This record gives sequence, structure tokens and C-alpha cells, in this order.
Amino acid sequence: MPLSRTEHRRQAHRNDLWLGSVAVLGLGVWLAWRTPAGMGLAMGAGVAAGLVAWSPLEYALHRFVLHRLPLFEGWHLEHHRQPTALIYIPTLLGAALIGLVVWVPAWALLGPWLGGAVTLGALTGYLAYTFTHHALHHGASRIAWLQRRKYWHAKHHHLAHGCCFGVTSGFWDRVFHTDSHKAPPPVSIPVVRRGG
Ligand SMILES: [Zn+2]
Ligand SMILES: [Zn+2]
Repeated sequence: MPLSRTEHRRQAHRNDLWLGSVAVLGLGVWLAWRTPAGMGLAMGAGVAAGLVAWSPLEYALHRFVLHRLPLFEGWHLEHHRQPTALIYIPTLLGAALIGLVVWVPAWALLGPWLGGAVTLGALTGYLAYTFTHHALHHGASRIAWLQRRKYWHAKHHHLAHGCCFGVTSGFWDRVFHTDSHKAPPPVSIPVVRRGG
């Protein structure tokens, strides 16, 4: 029996999360196994650097690629219109984008081993972003950090897409003044007023 559109999307998204996890694990194991002796410390630093670099990259990709580049914007605005409909960028396109903006420059600048380590860190950040974004739209968590991220992302969806581009962190929104803290909160999220 052919899959319904919703089931097809659910399956594609499951594959996305699964393939991302396998890619991170596979690259991590391969690097740990094949890295030349004596490079362990540098490789650890490379992974940490890639993980840290993911944060501004997440902000920039969301703000300038998902909201500016026509092909990506089409998919992303569809997600804005239907936040729970599991509309995401196809896995292969997402992988190609990460390859192009992370792996190719990291390889060119740092060589295969350190470039691979930086890519592993950034991929781990990308995976954390993917799981977090999924949890923001589909999870009901009591974890305070996730609730704060949920509120932040709801503002992004509700306030004309001009603010709150960070998903795993609001840091870069504050740095580039896209946190829009003066804007009213989204109507769908109840606001608890204290002392009133
Ligand atoms: Zn979203
Ligand atoms: Zn967006």
C-alpha cells in the first residue's frame, strides 16, 4: 500500500535523524581509528572548534539561506506555514550544504584530518539542532532550557520571521540585534505575569 503524504514525510524525517546520527557516529569512529598517532589532542580541539562554530553557522544558515535563498526559502516558509507538518530540507540537500560550507573549506584550510575533526564537531552541532528543532515542535518537555527555546522559536514563527533565528541558542540574535525583545510575545503562548 502506498504511503500517505504525512506518513511519507514522517518516514523521511525519521531517516534524516537516523542518517545524521549514523554519519556522526561513523565519522567519529573512523577518525578515532585512522587518525595518525600524536594528533589526538589537535583532533579533540578540532572537534570542539567545529562544535563551537556550529552556533553562528546555525544562525547564519537560518537567517541568510533558509530565509533568503529561493529554493531553501520555499521549503522553509512552508514549514513556517505548517510547523508540525514535518516539512524539512531533504537529507541529501542538507548534507550537500554542510559539505559545502563546512567540510570543503575545513579540508582546504586544515587538511584531511583536522578538517575531518572540525566537520565532525559541526555535524554534531547540526544533529543537536535537528533534534532540538524537532522537539520544539513535537515535544512536550518540562526541561526549562527546552521551554525557553520553544518560546524563542515560537516568536520566530509568529513575528514575521524577522527575529529569533537561533534555535539551539539565542546568543547570536542578541549579538546581531535580531532578538526583538521589545516585540510582543506570540499570542499562542500564555504569559505568566508576576506580582500582579
Ligand atoms: Zn520551526
Ligand atoms: Zn525560519
